[in-house]
Amino acid sequence: MELRKTGIELIGDVPWGTHISQVYSAKDDFFKTSIPFIQKGLSNNELCIWIYSSNTDEDEIRSTIKKSVPDVDSYIKKGQLKILPYTEWYVKEDSFNEVRINKQWVDLIEYCVRSGYDGMRAVADTSWLEKSYSRKFAEYEKNINKLVSELPFIVICLYDSNKIGISEFSEIVSNHGYVVLKDNGGFKVLKNVELLVKNLQLEKSREEYKKLEKYDQMKTEFFSNLSHELRTPLNVILSTLQLMRIKKATLVQKPDERNYFSIMQQNCYRLLRLVNNLIDITKIDSNFFELKLCNCNIVEVVENITMSVAEYIESKGITLKFDTNIEEKMIACDPDQIERVILNLLSNAMKFTPQGGRIWVKILDDDDKVKIKVRDNGIGIPKNKQDIIFDRFQQVNKSFSRHHEGSGIGLSLVKSLIEKHGGDISLKSQEGKGSEFILELPCKILPGQITDTDSEAEIVKHKQVERAQIEFSDIYA
Ligand code: ADP
Repeated sequence: MELRKTGIELIGDVPWGTHISQVYSAKDDFFKTSIPFIQKGLSNNELCIWIYSSNTDEDEIRSTIKKSVPDVDSYIKKGQLKILPYTEWYVKEDSFNEVRINKQWVDLIEYCVRSGYDGMRAVADTSWLEKSYSRKFAEYEKNINKLVSELPFIVICLYDSNKIGISEFSEIVSNHGYVVLKDNGGFKVLKNVELLVKNLQLEKSREEYKKLEKYDQMKTEFFSNLSHELRTPLNVILSTLQLMRIKKATLVQKPDERNYFSIMQQNCYRLLRLVNNLIDITKIDSNFFELKLCNCNIVEVVENITMSVAEYIESKGITLKFDTNIEEKMIACDPDQIERVILNLLSNAMKFTPQGGRIWVKILDDDDKVKIKVRDNGIGIPKNKQDIIFDRFQQVNKSFSRHHEGSGIGLSLVKSLIEKHGGDISLKSQEGKGSEFILELPCKILPGQITDTDSEAEIVKHKQVERAQIEFSDIYA
């Protein structure tokens, strides 16, 4: 746990969120504690605040600090040390307003974080406090204690012993972790054990939380590195296979050899798909995923990718129908990712539709939106599972899914990709009747003429065939 040096010998190191008080009879008393307190804060990269009452003034405080911190003026100039009268803090226009004061503290903490300080410490003299405010102030102290305990903040409240009675004193003791008192010419410290333990526990849980956050970040980085490391050798195997194939094609190839090649290739694609999905999910989670947007004809993108797998789907005894109520619709999208989404939905539709079944892909122009529907009349998805299938690693029926390979990240990735486009995905399904996935994409256009430049038909076709091989790798046999 991170402890801060108070600079006050009797107290030593304390965690953030500690609320100290001092009951003084002369201003010499509080200078003896508050000066080393401020000095430590300044050297520890903390924002330091001193709110004084009418028993002293800014000049006196500054010149007293100067004896221990010769360059005090430079700290004031750069804003790390602020010396303020109570009339600019507690009592403004003759009114003590708790909400305003709390806001001032929170604003300061925000300033402190923005300016790169490690935290904040304050000295706050309360000797301006009149009896008429004392109830209100005690209430305020209780609340401020809660506020302080949750922030990177350490504060000393100064109380003039001539102005406090026994009831105020007990209030002070209960609201502060430490009370510094004059004792035989020296000082002694009363500890409010209950409060200290409470703050310690709070600090501990904050630390544990930080540890967990850090672990999570490490896990993400590890995952991302690992996925990249997996992809490289896979691509090498794939291209070597391709090379061997080309070379072998010139020789006479035995049928079972051809079969081995395609088994190896298909399984490489399966691994590649899994790795690609893992990389992208990790990127999306850590906000590093970026779409490569361009203005393109969404009808053409969806139609071409659907057609590229039509033959394969039909060869499995499933009818595929493509339909659109519009010829052309230019929208800003990432065509590679849209293709991936459509392939994912089509491969699922295929996996879960028996022979003799049907799959429909439909595009509907809907003014400011374009809807893409992928429907099948396959096994459908039970009502109670419809909400969760977009969650990661969810498969409706694990035992059933064993016959249908998959990792359960396809749909969660599809959803994230569509949401990245500012769109939405929904599902209508009835068990035994079929499923319909409905994508809605906003019809926005990028300013300027950023259109899909990759229009050389051959390149696009080649890319689509490979992408289909990857996305369909679960079912290709
Ligand atoms: P997987 O990689 O396992 O296919 P998905 O996220 O793509 O993961 O799908 C999650 C689950 O949703 C599937 O395992 C299946 O149970 C169900 N599912 C998805 N699409 C369909 C569909 N068209 N018909 C029936 N069930 C489906």
